[in-house]
Amino acid sequence: MKYNPSPGIFIGLGANLGDPVQQLTDALADIDSHADIKLLERSHFYSSAPMGPKDQPNYINAVCKVSTNLLPIDLLHVLQAIELSHGRVRKAERWGARTLDLDLLLYGNEYIKTEELTVPHYGMSGREFVLVPLFEIQPDLIMPNNQPIAHWIRECDLTALTRLMN
Ligand code: ATP
Ligand code: MG
Ligand code: MG
Repeated sequence: MKYNPSPGIFIGLGANLGDPVQQLTDALADIDSHADIKLLERSHFYSSAPMGPKDQPNYINAVCKVSTNLLPIDLLHVLQAIELSHGRVRKAERWGARTLDLDLLLYGNEYIKTEELTVPHYGMSGREFVLVPLFEIQPDLIMPNNQPIAHWIRECDLTALTRLMN
């Protein structure tokens, strides 16, 4: 079923180690400079309190919209290569501090569920640091359960989210 009247490909970015603003700036440049990916839009950067373990710095988050002819799994691999090139070390602890996290949020209207890749990204609901920047660049987005993105944002706690000037 098509759930999205304005289908696009959206990537969520996050970082909370090193210089997170610089990490996100560089990651956006890396995404755009890839031969098969074009950066169409990017949100402001947002500061948010960490999810999961609280003994880690605040996160900087953003969302971008791209066009690409890469298949979703190939796009995921490109994003993982960019994460690694920014010094991300995969640790056992879930949601622990990291230099860069790139998640494939939506790929048009596609539903994918494999061991390696779930699209739409399972963790969008209730994550204000994903939904608010996503809303900023695509306010008419209809989410996978057919609700407007604004409805999903209403369910979020926005108190710890701050929009930066970047
Ligand atoms: P969360 O997924 O809750 O945001 P995280 O981003 O910290 O947590 P990662 O360590 O970056 O989790 O990724 C864990 C695994 O999630 C990866 O190995 C990847 O294969 C898988 N994965 C499944 N679906 C996606 C997706 N849509 N985007 C990115 N990774 C995904
Ligand atoms: Mg993530
Ligand atoms: Mg991830």
